[in-house]
Amino acid sequence: MKPLEQLVRPNIWRLAPYSSARNEYSGRTARVFLDANENPYNTPLNRYPDPLQTEVKQKLSKIKGVTPDCIFLGNGSDEAIDLPYRCFCEPGKDNVVAMEPTYGMYKVCADINDVEYRPVLLDEQFQISAEKLLAACDENTKIIWICSPNNPTGNSIRREEILKTIEQFQGFVIVDEAYIDFSTQKSLRQELAKHPNLIVLNTFSKAWGCAAIRLGMAFARPEIVGLFNKVKYPYNINLLTQQQALEALNDPYEIDKWVKILLQERSRMIDAFKLLPICKKVYPTDANFFLCKMTDAQKIYDYLVDRGIIVRNRSRIQLCNNCLRVTIGTKSENNEILAALRQY
Ligand SMILES: *Cc1c(COP(=O)(O)O)cnc(C)c1O
Repeated sequence: MKPLEQLVRPNIWRLAPYSSARNEYSGRTARVFLDANENPYNTPLNRYPDPLQTEVKQKLSKIKGVTPDCIFLGNGSDEAIDLPYRCFCEPGKDNVVAMEPTYGMYKVCADINDVEYRPVLLDEQFQISAEKLLAACDENTKIIWICSPNNPTGNSIRREEILKTIEQFQGFVIVDEAYIDFSTQKSLRQELAKHPNLIVLNTFSKAWGCAAIRLGMAFARPEIVGLFNKVKYPYNINLLTQQQALEALNDPYEIDKWVKILLQERSRMIDAFKLLPICKKVYPTDANFFLCKMTDAQKIYDYLVDRGIIVRNRSRIQLCNNCLRVTIGTKSENNEILAALRQY
């Protein structure tokens, strides 16, 4: 990896961040707060929230097996996807490399930040080699995006290829593990100490069942977390979100139960789809959804919409011709889509 200073935009490297009232005084012993121009009434909503989410990170640290100073929390993964562009990529000059097809936000954020986006097509098994990713890079490539398990294909990317990419690339490799809790694969979080250029993303939106609170996580070495903290909005995670996250973190067994049921339902759904005459193929999945090739995806999609059932039509995406992406729902929701498709 290049020295950090060479990978960070010069203006960000030099940036003196905004210092909020809650930054300047963060001790716990004070009783009278007259420093932040808050209204003294309407407790607890009157107070600015902890800008560094100390309590949430302490709890997360135990569950995720990383120290709190290696955790960044964002307004959804969306913020953790956008910040690397803003910190590392010089608009109009730098570029990023990503596999194709993959999650759409990497490209949207590249376009917003005026950063060239270089897609590299997956093979027929939806896999990619380190060699292919690295071949798409040049001296201005700052980030390689790897989504594993991948959205919309559902499969995990081979670990050896991810590790090879991390070891051989001079910039950052960001591995988006939004669906890791549904996967049999091990998270790359435990590799952080060995690889200074690795950033791993997780989210509260999927297995944790908290898409509404908008809370995403980036795990990286403390210098990188420090850069993200410097650039983020001072109070990017609101109080209600922090409270709700703490509640969810108090009950991780509930999440294990959900995941177990969803995995059972996933195999039941896949078996049932394979028996449908209109389903030509179900692709292997490590996520809480699966991709399936249908006889006529658009018509089947419209048919389902007419019955109040919405799936994702991925037909127009490369390598996903005639494909629908189906999320695993409750048992009765899954029964509804199966009944509808059997009558098609
Ligand atoms: C759903 C999803 C996310 C989650 O995004 P949030 O902003 O945290 O809700 C992140 N990455 C991928 C690949 C996803 O599919």
